[in-house]
Amino acid sequence: MKLPRNKSHNERLLDRQLKTRSTFASGMPNTLIVEPGAVCSLRCCFCPQSKQDFNFTRGLLHLRDFQRVIGYFEPYLDTVMLFNWGEPLMNPDIGRMVAYASAKGIHTFIHSHFNSLDAALAEELIRGGLFEITASIDGVTQESYAAYRQGGSLERAIANLRLLQEKKKELRADSPRIVWKFLVFRHNEHEMERARMLAGELGIPVEFKFAVTDGTMSSTLPEFSSDGPAEKFIRHYGLPCEQLWKSPTIHADGTVLPCCMVSHSRFCAGNVFQQEFSDIWNNEKYRFLREVASGKKEADESVFCYYCMFGRRQRTKEQDA
Ligand code: SF4
Ligand code: SF4
Repeated sequence: MKLPRNKSHNERLLDRQLKTRSTFASGMPNTLIVEPGAVCSLRCCFCPQSKQDFNFTRGLLHLRDFQRVIGYFEPYLDTVMLFNWGEPLMNPDIGRMVAYASAKGIHTFIHSHFNSLDAALAEELIRGGLFEITASIDGVTQESYAAYRQGGSLERAIANLRLLQEKKKELRADSPRIVWKFLVFRHNEHEMERARMLAGELGIPVEFKFAVTDGTMSSTLPEFSSDGPAEKFIRHYGLPCEQLWKSPTIHADGTVLPCCMVSHSRFCAGNVFQQEFSDIWNNEKYRFLREVASGKKEADESVFCYYCMFGRRQRTKEQDA
């Protein structure tokens, strides 16, 4: 594959390939989802990482490997999302990763359970130029919080949210933007108003989000219930299938996943520590996935789209037509 000449050339190619849903991608990713380590101290009910059959390497991403990855994509990169199926703040190099990417003008985003933060790390993240951090805290009482975030401490998470906010003020820093994400379930929907008040007191915006559940924890509020999950997911989070054209997911061992929804390594598209990324980006698997996502081919069991709610929605629509 011939690499784009520069960033603006790449952006034009990305725009075109997204609009046309081309099978072959001539533009390079401008966003990466990088997993700092598939490890976590919590066991959230519907997180693949909590399951026995989770089969990604449970190691941490080394700083030098992160730098190698960034070095390769740097000419085209705007954004790095430092999370997928693990807790990013459990990687002791996370602050250095943020600082390394920020120094190259790349925006960094983290989603965290906020149980593993301390004052030193808070300062490192702020000084490193972290752009945005989202705290996943679903409740204002320990009972409802831990019904989903099993093994977590609400008191610690809120204290760390306050700590980061205060550290920002102390350092007179504008970033990171801090967001509180509250997944709405049946067992915590009555706490939304109190969460709003607490967020106001902390000076942090709270966003109430729909959760993908097996139905047992589904909210009774229509906007947050588990009915029509694909449509609700798109409304709340955007369309993940676009990642096939602009943002691959890279795990700590170099595994490339075509989409952040993929939760089993057998659906990987290659490995950036063993191959050139340009040989992965348009390989047979990627081309097939793009054809599936643009409705030109039907998913089969070799790709995660066959099992994913978006792929199932696509098939149902085709059957109904
Ligand atoms: S905090 Fe995140 S990574 Fe950890 S178990 Fe929960 S959802 Fe999974
Ligand atoms: S159908 Fe699912 S797994 Fe496939 S690209 Fe879309 S979101 Fe990802």
